[in-house]
Amino acid sequence: MRYISTRGEAPALGFEDVLLTGLAPDGGLYVPESLPHFSLEEIRGWRGLPYTELAFNIMYPFVEEAIPEADFRQMLDDTYSGFAHKAVAPLVQLDANEWVMELFRGPTLAFKDFALQLLGRLLDYVLEKRQEHAVIMGATSGDTGSAAIEGCRRCEHVDIFILHPYERVSEVQRRQMTTVQGDNIHNIAIKGNFDDCQRMVKESFGDQSFLGGKAKLAAVNSINWARIMAQIVYYFHASLALGGPDRSMAFSVPTGNFGDIFAGYLAKKMGLPISQLVIATNKNDILHRFMSGNKYEQHKLEHTLSPSMDIMVSSNFERLLFDLHGRDGLAVKELLENAAKGPVSIEDYRWKKARKLFDSAAVDDKATCDTIREVYQQNEYLLDPHTAIGVHAARACRRDDQIPMITLGTAHPAKFPDAIVESGLTVKPALPAHMADLFEREERYTVLDNDRAGVQAFIAKHWKNA
Ligand SMILES: *Cc1c(COP(=O)(O)O)cnc(C)c1O
Repeated sequence: MRYISTRGEAPALGFEDVLLTGLAPDGGLYVPESLPHFSLEEIRGWRGLPYTELAFNIMYPFVEEAIPEADFRQMLDDTYSGFAHKAVAPLVQLDANEWVMELFRGPTLAFKDFALQLLGRLLDYVLEKRQEHAVIMGATSGDTGSAAIEGCRRCEHVDIFILHPYERVSEVQRRQMTTVQGDNIHNIAIKGNFDDCQRMVKESFGDQSFLGGKAKLAAVNSINWARIMAQIVYYFHASLALGGPDRSMAFSVPTGNFGDIFAGYLAKKMGLPISQLVIATNKNDILHRFMSGNKYEQHKLEHTLSPSMDIMVSSNFERLLFDLHGRDGLAVKELLENAAKGPVSIEDYRWKKARKLFDSAAVDDKATCDTIREVYQQNEYLLDPHTAIGVHAARACRRDDQIPMITLGTAHPAKFPDAIVESGLTVKPALPAHMADLFEREERYTVLDNDRAGVQAFIAKHWKNA
């Protein structure tokens, strides 16, 4: 399998190189040159398979040139045996033909564990084979950092540096990052905001000379193709549990960077009958504005009760635009260069094609809290604010009651207690047993000034082989 850039001007790469890099040199994102396609008969034959075996069938075509079968199976077993529920991604029914798929049974209680637990293992495997070392640098406003650190804690060939804005992440989120012990784990609190952190990471990827040529930077945000790949699996898993592929399904996906929902789009292209994908956003609704009015325009950032979806632009959306433009990388490049200057639209027929599959809704904090309260009163089931946005959008956008509607449950409610208080409920969601002592564990992090050279010097000094 070869991977090509969405901006058409970078050389194609194999899986190993795509795994170890960030953006393509032309500024684009890597996508597979072609996708594997599974027949209905093949998919039907996967009914009842354990999660890891299903994951193997779906992902192996993407990695087969880099990893022998037995090694990949082992990696998947190690990854998903660490999840707290035996079904890995269990379904909970809310109403007639309406479900939540719980994707928060991994170590850090958000769906990002599905990909990052695997990514850490993939990186270490490939680096061991090449006898190389990678330095991961990432910025986080909360969830990604903890999932990436958990995913890399056992890696021998990776040092991970996660930047978070000093005193601007919640205590649960900070402790999930800073209490993980390991010589290769480095938490840096920057005296600045999230944008400052992100800018420093971006500029460091652009000029890696501070590492003296002895290591390369690798990315753990959702521009990394391997993350998308791992997220395709649970769409198949849910469908098979509810009568697919002999019935079509609808999914509602709480969306920020368009990574998770893009994986659903790929599942459909690979043969899974999906009749509708709902893009559920909070007030940061660039994707909803595009889907409802064919206008792509950046607004300023709003802080909401669903912080993991607080974004201004949606990086993975570029991967969909690439397909909508018949995989013409130069057309995508031109469109996004214009989008950086002001609002853009795409040709009407291309937009209508997207609308055949995608619907969207923007859900504000009040509607989020109303949904948390209503679902709790109806079902005694607590939603986290991100999942609540998904459920609200699913109900608002549903096209056909006969088709099962599945909302992706992206986080455990105990991670976001503020939204539950705000919704007027007095229940307190408890942290699961493995995290019950989070507030007693020792923390480790370094506070640094908002200064790129200082941060780069810190990294150059502290990675393992420095
Ligand atoms: C990251 C995240 C999202 C958004 O996912 P994308 O792939 O960026 O669209 C939604 N909910 C939670 C809880 C998250 O951590």
